[in-house]
This record gives sequence, structure tokens and C-alpha cells, in this order.
Amino acid sequence: MNEIVTHEHDVVVIGAGGAGLRAAIEASRAGVSVAMICKSMLGKAHTVMAEGGAAAALANKDPRDTWQTHFRDTMKGGKYLGDWRMAQIHAQQAPNRIRELERWGAVFDRTPKGVTSQRNFGGHTYPRLAHIGDATGLELIRTLQQKGIHMGMDVYMEFTVRRLFKTDGRISGCFAYNRNDGSLHVFKAKTIVLATGGITRCWEVCSGSWEYTGEGHALAYWVGAEMGDMEFVQFHPTGMIWPPSVKGILVTEGVRGEGGVLRNAEGKRFMFDYIPEMYADEFADTEEEALAWVDEVISGKLATHRRPPELLTRDVVAKAINSERAAGRASEHGGVYLDISWRDAEEVKKKLPGMHHQFKELANVDITTDPMEVGPTAHYVMGGVRVDPYSQETSVPGLYAAGEVATGMHGANRLGGNSLSDLIVFGKIAGEQASEAANDMNYFADIEQLEIDDVVAETLSPLQREGGENPANVVSNLREMMQEKVGIIRTGSLLGESLSDLDALEVRAANTSPGGIRTYNPGWHQALELSAMIDVSRMCALAAHRREESRGAHTRADYPHTDDSHWGKSTSVISMGEDGSMDIGYASYPEIPEELRSLLDADDLHEGDRE
Ligand SMILES: Cc1cc2nc3c(=O)[nH]c(=O)nc-3n(C[C@H](O)[C@H](O)[C@H](O)COP(=O)(O)OP(=O)(O)OC[C@H]3O[C@@H](n4cnc5c(N)ncnc54)[C@H](O)[C@@H]3O)c2cc1C
Repeated sequence: MNEIVTHEHDVVVIGAGGAGLRAAIEASRAGVSVAMICKSMLGKAHTVMAEGGAAAALANKDPRDTWQTHFRDTMKGGKYLGDWRMAQIHAQQAPNRIRELERWGAVFDRTPKGVTSQRNFGGHTYPRLAHIGDATGLELIRTLQQKGIHMGMDVYMEFTVRRLFKTDGRISGCFAYNRNDGSLHVFKAKTIVLATGGITRCWEVCSGSWEYTGEGHALAYWVGAEMGDMEFVQFHPTGMIWPPSVKGILVTEGVRGEGGVLRNAEGKRFMFDYIPEMYADEFADTEEEALAWVDEVISGKLATHRRPPELLTRDVVAKAINSERAAGRASEHGGVYLDISWRDAEEVKKKLPGMHHQFKELANVDITTDPMEVGPTAHYVMGGVRVDPYSQETSVPGLYAAGEVATGMHGANRLGGNSLSDLIVFGKIAGEQASEAANDMNYFADIEQLEIDDVVAETLSPLQREGGENPANVVSNLREMMQEKVGIIRTGSLLGESLSDLDALEVRAANTSPGGIRTYNPGWHQALELSAMIDVSRMCALAAHRREESRGAHTRADYPHTDDSHWGKSTSVISMGEDGSMDIGYASYPEIPEELRSLLDADDLHEGDRE
């Protein structure tokens, strides 16, 4: 039963979402042998859930759009913490990656003139999101998958990777087990691309699927890679909140992009009260002006008015909803109301078919006639594995990362739509670079047998434990704790407590008993995932505890100000110390060149504290 099957592939891609598929396509094109490993079935990756669209300055809906404006919006939305090099590459290359998807068969919605339609989203100056109704991820995955499987890659579905191996300081392979039959596998590889997505299952209320347990983040950390900006976890402002069984499921920002308005229990359109100074020039501060903008957009004219405040960035809207709740103005079930029913019912059904269906089926609400009840939900992690912006290589030679598992571009807050375009821009670069490096090697490095024995023993150990706790209990206690202590509004004392709680949860996790069977045993998978969930949660809590300011998605009630003089220049870096401790330090990106700096808003770049 402990037989180990060994595989050899020049490039191993871990993860079959948009980033992994795009990387695998590029690596296969280069003629190397490619393996794609994924925890679930091909086609099920989290990317398939993406709704609103992919951001790219195609300038189809508004000819004023340029990559420079997209770059500026991304840097501003990220509160100037992001890596300007990645934001530049992304803004410049996203349009071609979208056109490429179209050539490969993706059927985007069209404008009356027949070009790719684009919709408005939070923090984007112009309509910029290429979309397919509100099911963009499905079409993206379908297209990439169709392209990918014809390129000859080997796909290992329902395999969980549990460890990455290094030989002489360079990546040499990984260990995985098959989730169905429990078989054990070693993959020897010349290079590995990590594309494992996000971590939001560590929070009780989240928009992610069961796959989002942060294993990729943990795998990179355990093998010695540097992790960046882990304190920045995005709470999307609009998740479903009622009935309880659907709490957290996403309500796309596309609803607000199509004119949806937010109201509190008193019927007040409260977002006018929450426009930050840095956005004052761009957002309407009266209902009349917001309506004038919507009228222009609906009638296909170029917008001349300032945008409605519902289209502020997600960090701002989520905190505003939180404040309304705290002030006792919450909706019936503790959120706020999102209303698109004022628009023509047929238009709503055409533009937002998924939302219409979702609310009808899950909440018995017809969004063409009634408002939705919504509240914040953990949605995306800006932090992740630090990469070189030009190659996507991590600090571990031979290990590349792309997509949500990587960090840099989004800074302190990601703009909606910038993830799907991130996946295809940086997935391509990672695949290109990983295959080039693999082509330069003419051997597979040996993997230490002791290391293999160690991970096999660790993987099988939960099956041998008896009388311990059910792993599902520990998972739910972890998620509740993170929701309460490492949520939208944080304090030093709660964060300190969360770190102690994680130590206690780690002890419990080491004693769980999922039963002794290897085949089809979901308890065993959970017992194994816990080690990653705990370390990833610890990274978030530690980085949040240390960052003594509020910026983007990280809000400290005890440090409410944004501190540009110090923290604005410091991106957190977590790595494993020699003794296995979790160490934290800080780094800065290179100085931004003048021609790019001049694209940013001069007023935002002043030194010193600011609200
Ligand atoms: C409901 C929802 C709607 C969204 N809408 C949008 C949108 O409209 N626009 C936008 O830009 N962004 C959107 N996002 C965000 C975006 O979808 C994600 O950030 C993005 O899809 C992540 O892609 P990825 O390729 O990095 O990872 P994923 O698509 O999550 O894929 C990860 C892959 O890694 C595999 N994996 C993970 N761990 C392991 C392991 N240990 N071993 C083996 N395999 C593993 C998984 O099985 C999976 O195949 C949305 C997110 C959600 C939840």
C-alpha cells in the first residue's frame, strides 16, 4: 500500500485554474513535457466561479481608456503598496491576452458595433471589464482547457500536492497523493509553476470553494520561499447573507457596475457619506450626479459626470457597510440592501442572468423587483509568494508562481477584474520562463529518500490516530476564530490573541482522527489541509499584528491612519527561520521611474500621515 509511483516531467504545474492552464499552455508550446496537477476535476478550479469580467484597457466602450490609466487605477486602488513593475506589465499586456482568448474561441459579450463589450467596475476609471454575462470565469476556463488539452499535457486530477522538494538549493519535484484511492506519487521536475489560488476558506464567511485552503501558499513557505503582504485579505462588500446556508456566496460587483445602489435600513443611499478624500474628484457626491452618470452610461454615451460612490474600491465599500451595521442601520439579517430593481427587468436578466438565478433559487428573491440583502465576505488574498516581476520566479530557484497564490501587483487592495487578467498575463510569463529554464537542464535531480519518507509518514499519520477529535471541528473553530479576530476591522489585542489561538489549534490539529481508511476519506483530506490552513492564518495574523497603520484591506481600529512615510514604503516579507520559526521583515520595491510616477495622482503621493 505504501508503494510510491514516480513520474518525470520537465515542468510541473500545480493548479488548473486560469493561471495554471495559461502557464501549462505556454510551457507545452515550448516543447517540454508538462504535467498539470489539481486537487479537483479539471474545469472545477476556482476560476470557473469568476463572474464580473477581466479588466483590460481595450478602449472598446470608451476610447479614452489606455494602459496608462489602467496602471494608475491599479496603483491607486492598491493604495500605492503594489509592485509598479507588475502593474505596468499587467496593464500593457492584458489587452493582447484578452484578444488571444477570443482567437482561441472565447465568446465575450459584444457591443452593438460587434467588438468585445466592457463593463464598469469599482475603481476603474472607464468601462474596462470584458465579460460573458456574469459567468466570465466559466468561458475563460472552457477556452483555456480546450486549448490546453490539445497541447499534449498530462493531467493528474484529484491529486493533492503536500510538499515541494529542493535538491542543492533548487526545486527538484513534489509529492502528492491521490484523493480517491490514497495512492502516493513523487513527481520529479526541472521546474515547477505554483498556481494554487487563494486562502479564503480560513474565514467563516467567504466566497471561495472548498479548494481555497491556502495549500499552495504553505507549500511555498515550507520549501523556503519568501511570502509577501499576507496581512492584505480582501473582504468583498457584497456577499449573500440570507438564508444562513448561502452566507458568503458572491454577489458580483457587476450589479453595481450595471447601476445597483446600496441602501441602509433607513433607505438612505449611504455611500455618499464614505467617499475618501483621495477619490473626491472622481466620485459623485449627490444622487443627481450619480444618476446623470448612469443615464449617460445606459444610453451608450461617454460619461462626463463623476461615478456613483457604489463604484468606489472594495476596501472602501466593505468598510462602509461595516460602519452602517455598527451604527445600527443594518438590514433585517445584518447587512445592507443592494437594489438593481429600478432598471428594466429584461436588461437585468440579460446582463446579470447568474445573479437573477442565484437569488431566485437560493433566497427566493426576484432581483428585478426586490432588493438583495448583502454583506462583506472574505474573497481574495493580495498577499502570497513573492516573485520576480519579469520571470515570476520565486526566491527558490526553479519555483515559479502565478495567479492568486503570487503577490505584488495588487498591493493593499485588488481592483475587481484585475485577477482574471492577472492570471492570463502572468500565467503566460510563468509558463514561458519555467519551460525555458527546464530546456536549459538536461537532467532530473535526485530527491533525498529521507525527505520522501518523511512526507509519506506525515501524510499517513492521521490515519493511524485513534480517539482524537474530528478534523472538521478544528477547521470550523479555526474559521470562526479568523472571522472574529483577523477580520475587516482589527486591533492589536485581538490579533495577539489570534496568534495564541493558532498555537492551540495546531496542537488540536495534530491529534485529529479522521478514521483509518485511505479511499474516499474526506476527513483525512481535512486533517491534512489543517497544517496549511494554520500556517497561512498565522502568516496573516502575524503580518497584520505588525502593520501599525490602516491601508486598503488592512484596517486597524487602534491605528486608523495611513502612514505613507514608513508603511507605504514597506511590504512585509515572511520566511521560515533556520529553527523553523516564522520570521517577518520588510522590503521595498525599486524607486518608480519618473515617467510612471507622473501618471499617478500627485496629491496622493505626498509624504507624511494622511487619513
Ligand atoms: C465567486 C467569485 C467570483 C469572482 N469573480 C471575479 C471576476 O469577475 N473577475 C476577477 O478578476 N476575479 C474574480 N474572482 C477572483 C478570481 O476568480 C480568482 O482570484 C482566480 O480565479 C484565481 O485563479 P488561480 O488560477 O490563481 O487559482 P484557481 O482558479 O483557484 O485554481 C487553483 C487550482 O489549484 C489547485 N490546487 C490548490 N491546492 C492544491 C494542491 N495542494 N495540490 C494540487 N492542486 C491544488 C486547485 O485544485 C485548482 O485547480 C472571483 C472569485 C470568486 C470566488
